[in-house]
Amino acid sequence: MARVKNWQLGREMSYWYPESRPQKQFAAVFDTNKCIACQTCTLACKTTWTSGKGQEYMLWNNVETKPYGSYPLAWDLNLLSLLDGQNWGEEDGKPVYKGSTIFESAPAGERVMAWRPDEEDYAYPNVGEDDCAGGIEHGASIEIPHQMAWFYYLARICNHCTYPACLASCPRGSIYKRPEDGIVLVDQGRCRGYQECVRGCPYKKVFFNPMTATSEKCIACYPKIEQGLSPQCFANCIGKIRMAGFINTPDKAQADNPIDYLVHIKKVALPLYPQFGLEPNVYYIPPIHVPTAFTKQMFGPGVDKAVEVYRNAPNDQDLTSLLGLFGSTEAIVRKWKRVGEKAIGMDENGKELVDVPFKEPVHIRPAYDKLHQITRTNCP
Ligand code: SF4
Ligand code: SF4
Repeated sequence: MARVKNWQLGREMSYWYPESRPQKQFAAVFDTNKCIACQTCTLACKTTWTSGKGQEYMLWNNVETKPYGSYPLAWDLNLLSLLDGQNWGEEDGKPVYKGSTIFESAPAGERVMAWRPDEEDYAYPNVGEDDCAGGIEHGASIEIPHQMAWFYYLARICNHCTYPACLASCPRGSIYKRPEDGIVLVDQGRCRGYQECVRGCPYKKVFFNPMTATSEKCIACYPKIEQGLSPQCFANCIGKIRMAGFINTPDKAQADNPIDYLVHIKKVALPLYPQFGLEPNVYYIPPIHVPTAFTKQMFGPGVDKAVEVYRNAPNDQDLTSLLGLFGSTEAIVRKWKRVGEKAIGMDENGKELVDVPFKEPVHIRPAYDKLHQITRTNCP
């Protein structure tokens, strides 16, 4: 095995191939605090890519309710129980993962510590939906943000990992990472359906198609990415929780790159189960109302700081302005800046794509419209 640098772990780790980073790495930030589990993203993906025979059960994008939801069933619990638990330490004031990744804990003769779901594990995509942790007393009233019991929605796609376990697991070399944007794809011509990738991906984001006898997965809508546009699940997101872009490593972080700013500079967006060791490239702003003992095992040790930064956003004009750019345009915002109380999103050449004011202007219409001679009932 090669030794590679995984900045999310704060250390080197073992991987099956030498470190080879793409020219650009596709990445995303999801704000869990804004997701309403409408599943529009799920359907946008489904109708675009997986409406064919053999794809019925596939959800390249899914949204599950935590703590009880999971698709396929118990995808994360199963792997967490195989690993040796969380073990984060600190060196020079920075978090370092002291436990073993799925590559480092692989049994002899295997490439990753892994398991493969049974067919019935895919039968309940909405299991646990809206089920909260803890009970609610009879007669209790809801306060926002609520303190009694909690749940939150976790939207998931392939993480287009820097060190993909699907790629490492494939005995045919059918999975590859595009050098131009880091998107991870299955070569349908080479794949022979051994399903080692289904077994190897800890996020269970590769699916076997029994009609074609090949594996299929999220392609990050690469034909759109190539045109500078966001994937379908981003462009259709009702809650505007998603921002697509490209991420640099922390040493090359650019403050005018929205993803770099949120992940490296503000540290408000965190990877999903970084301890697995894949350096996943979808980052989550953690839910601020959930006990951090739960969110730390999911997003790593940066949760406290991320929650603090997010809570302080109303006093942080730069962060406020960038959060306002989420879902503001289908184009990928490669650069951004704040001008007064306005956020400007730009393409890679600095050309303006969109501007979003901090506060939307409010227009109050007269109760009686003389021009159309109507009375509006929505007026006070
Ligand atoms: S479309 Fe957006 S808000 Fe709706 S479930 Fe998907 S991620 Fe959440
Ligand atoms: S999330 Fe799974 S399918 Fe996607 S690149 Fe990572 S290991 Fe591969």
